[in-house]
Amino acid sequence: AFAGSDLKLSYDNNLSFKQVSAAGVVYSSVGDTAERLAGVLHLTAEATAIRIDGREALYVADDKQAIEAVNDAKNYYGDPAADPAVTRVYTSEEISISKANVGLGDVMSKAEATSMLLFGSTKVKVDAKPMITVNVERTRTEREILAYGVVKQENSSLGRGAENVISEGVDGVQDVTYKVTEVNGVLTGSAPLASDIIVAAVDQVIEVGTQYYVSSRNDGGGSGILGWPADGMITSRFGWRSRGWHSGIDVAAPIGTTIFAANPGTVIGADEESGYGMVIRVDHGGGLVTLYAHCSEFYASVGDTVDRNTAIAAIGMTGRTTGPHVHFEVQVDGQAVNPLDYLEE
Ligand SMILES: [Zn+2]
Repeated sequence: AFAGSDLKLSYDNNLSFKQVSAAGVVYSSVGDTAERLAGVLHLTAEATAIRIDGREALYVADDKQAIEAVNDAKNYYGDPAADPAVTRVYTSEEISISKANVGLGDVMSKAEATSMLLFGSTKVKVDAKPMITVNVERTRTEREILAYGVVKQENSSLGRGAENVISEGVDGVQDVTYKVTEVNGVLTGSAPLASDIIVAAVDQVIEVGTQYYVSSRNDGGGSGILGWPADGMITSRFGWRSRGWHSGIDVAAPIGTTIFAANPGTVIGADEESGYGMVIRVDHGGGLVTLYAHCSEFYASVGDTVDRNTAIAAIGMTGRTTGPHVHFEVQVDGQAVNPLDYLEE
């Protein structure tokens, strides 16, 4: 732990050393001699203390070594002079220096002092703790994908709820600069400061249908043979909608509007269910079942045989609905299918 021959010994400034040999022991240098004498004579040295938050923590030979030891520790994780991306380095603790008279054995070399500040040890030790907390702020620029946006255009000749992609979106490229903070070399924070677009993204353009189809009991754009359940506007179609999967079509009409059976069959359900509200089901045979939900009244009962023109219920607002309509569902072998494929033109 002896720091070197530039120490000013305070015990006796007139001491001089010569290379002598006594009892076979060779004292060959001032440092060697002083080290051997220190244990016997309690030599002290005028040194410089490195103070952490006011407390003397370490001793080195002089102010210059103290300042350099501290600077070496501070710049260990990031040196603003060597790396322009490092914007700030500071310690959480207040570090100062002062003169001190200490035992020779307590004086460290500059490198030892730096190691102690950084790692709490001059050797590799697992349980050692740093004596200081070095905070580094730096900027870091990363090239990233710039996600494309979506532009929606209304199309009044496209059915309400239908969406078509007119042109595909293309991702762009951007450089994002982050302010990064590290504590003793460990990343503790990252926040975007600025971005620079290298390649602009291209918006995806989607057309959104706004047209209402009017469903009369004779004409509604279907392709099959079933009769339409009610006169009214189709306000929601089958398939994925913004609110999720829609298992039928909604035909809006005032409360009390008659709902007709879509084809001859047998009423197999007339119940109150959460979601559907008052719902009536007609079995047409061959695995085909139609369902009419949100009714206000039933005109038929379970077991009734109905015809294509039999009034079976009235439009209502029961269950989960925001307005009066019949939710009309066509099921084939228990599976909901698109009613427009089964309704007549
Ligand atoms: Zn519905």
